[in-house]
Amino acid sequence: PVAGELLLDVQAVRKQFGGLVAVNDVSFTIRAGEIIGLIGPNGAGKSTTFNLITGVLGLTRGNVVFRGQPVGGLSSREIAERGMSRTFQHVKMLPDMTVLENVALGGYLRSRHGVFAAMLRLDRDEEKRLFAEAERQLTRIGMAGQMHELAGNLALGPARLMEIARALCTDPALLLLDEPAAGLRHKEKQALAEVLRQLKAEGMSILLVEHDMDFVMNLTDRIVVMEFGTKLIEGTPQDVQESPAVRAAYLGT
Ligand code: ADP
Ligand code: MG
Repeated sequence: PVAGELLLDVQAVRKQFGGLVAVNDVSFTIRAGEIIGLIGPNGAGKSTTFNLITGVLGLTRGNVVFRGQPVGGLSSREIAERGMSRTFQHVKMLPDMTVLENVALGGYLRSRHGVFAAMLRLDRDEEKRLFAEAERQLTRIGMAGQMHELAGNLALGPARLMEIARALCTDPALLLLDEPAAGLRHKEKQALAEVLRQLKAEGMSILLVEHDMDFVMNLTDRIVVMEFGTKLIEGTPQDVQESPAVRAAYLGT
């Protein structure tokens, strides 16, 4: 994508679970090269919105347009193949395999087969290609030195970075991160923020779903704030920080 190009157009998306409207006609856009934060208190509808965009949940109404094509109604795999790559809130890994193996195989597993099928079906060329790409992405995010450690021995911060490396292996146009800073120590948050800033500098576009308002403040171009399933406000980090409505939502007053 060309910098500034309209990448993602979330058009009045709605999700109802029975009588509960979890996401109520939420709209926002992401342009290529931006980091957009999607924040809000617990239960605001962030994860549901994220799942509507990535095709994990079906839309009740509205649409999602990605790179000019409507993707509402496509499966999460089809959407991923069009260039959206996501991480999960809970790190998924094979703890007894190395970081490199996790990144190389993980992308393959998630995209196509079960674990054994993946190991049996890989031909030498594809295996080489996957491992080379994994090494390239781990190096890109500063984890070259931990490539050969067992994934199960990683602290949470590096484990989250490993997930990002895995998501980058498919060369996505848009990276979607679900609460990547949750549970991290201060130093780990700083390291994560540094990696995200670097990816942005390299032209990557990122949707960052976060509960932690401080984490998104110094990192994002724009922030969408949700409360009770609706978009409360959208603006620059400064707009959001100064908004009485946002303070009230966060403090519950
Ligand atoms: P957030 O990620 O902002 O904490 P969620 O999107 O997870 O919020 O949830 C928004 C609302 O939708 C909450 O009230 C939650 O209980 C409800 N909800 C989420 N997923 C489901 C589901 N699968 N079935 C029923 N209700 C759900
Ligand atoms: Mg959530």
